[in-house]
Amino acid sequence: MTLCLVDDDPVSLEALTFASRLGDVEALVFGEADVSGYASRARRVTHDRLDEYAPEAWAQAIVELEPELVVAPGTDRGHEVLARVAARLDVPLAANVVDAEVDGDALRLTRQRWGGSLLEEARLTGTPKLLTVAPHVVEPEPAGVATRVEEFTPTLSDEHLLLRVTRREEPFSGTVRLDTARVVVGGGRGVGSKEGFEILEELANLLGGAVGGSRVVTNLGWRPHSDQVGQTGARIAPDLYIACGVSGAIQHIVGCKGAKRILVINNDQSAPIVARADWAVIGDLHEIVPAIVAELRKNGG
Ligand code: FAD
Repeated sequence: MTLCLVDDDPVSLEALTFASRLGDVEALVFGEADVSGYASRARRVTHDRLDEYAPEAWAQAIVELEPELVVAPGTDRGHEVLARVAARLDVPLAANVVDAEVDGDALRLTRQRWGGSLLEEARLTGTPKLLTVAPHVVEPEPAGVATRVEEFTPTLSDEHLLLRVTRREEPFSGTVRLDTARVVVGGGRGVGSKEGFEILEELANLLGGAVGGSRVVTNLGWRPHSDQVGQTGARIAPDLYIACGVSGAIQHIVGCKGAKRILVINNDQSAPIVARADWAVIGDLHEIVPAIVAELRKNGG
């Protein structure tokens, strides 16, 4: 049986789509996600002690179902849970897979290494096979199957619940999520200061988008780490990424290469990100961004 881990992260539906291309897939659903049409069977996990994320408990649910193949989204949670399954069963885990093909008893895989700057061909053997799907390599698309939904209660003990979320703080509740935003306005060192981000926030608000930043700006404390785009930050896939004062180091590009269009605002024509741009405005962002904002305001946003 092929089992796909699903939680409330929209990237889960990408993983389900990926898994369904390998054959019949069953979804193991933590939370409220609607997987109708994506999997022939959905087991919605219910347990009176499991109302929040608890990685070992989620891993236990997977182990209990004895799947032959487990697919999970390439999110922090997907990686954490499958790493625990791998450790418990002493089997390998292939992370950040972008392509997979059944090859007899094995799976032939292509997966991202070094934050996506290297693609590795690999063969995964043994049982169960565990893999996570790199975010945004497939569009979520229902397989068109009828989904039978049932409840599943895993057998949990205290040891499975030692690590669990007990409290949640939403630092930016009400704002648009960076990893699912349709527009992201990104700022780099060129923004110059924490205060310099105010105009980028205004631009993002006018466009219904989110603000992101390079590692330099999170290191400098201009933005929180949750805003970082890149290898060690968020992977974004907006319709439009507006990169302001960002040079385009490979570790940053890894995080924004899923963007459908990139508009660069930079005063250096030879900055590497200019070569990645669909449009580039060469000049001082402190003049250009306010001019765009003023124009949008004039036109009612
Ligand atoms: P800079 O490279 O300094 O670029 C600033 C840009 O602003 C320049 O292109 C300049 O021309 C332009 N500029 C300056 N003033 C203006 C102005 N007034 N108007 C317009 N343009 C202006 N980086 C990430 O972003 N994300 C990651 O996840 C990440 N992970 C990393 C992981 C590792 C292991 C390592 C080693 C590095 C990582 N980095 C990451 C850091 C990365 O290598 C770069 O150092 C970083 O991305 C550079 O940030 P920046 O573009 O803001 O700054």
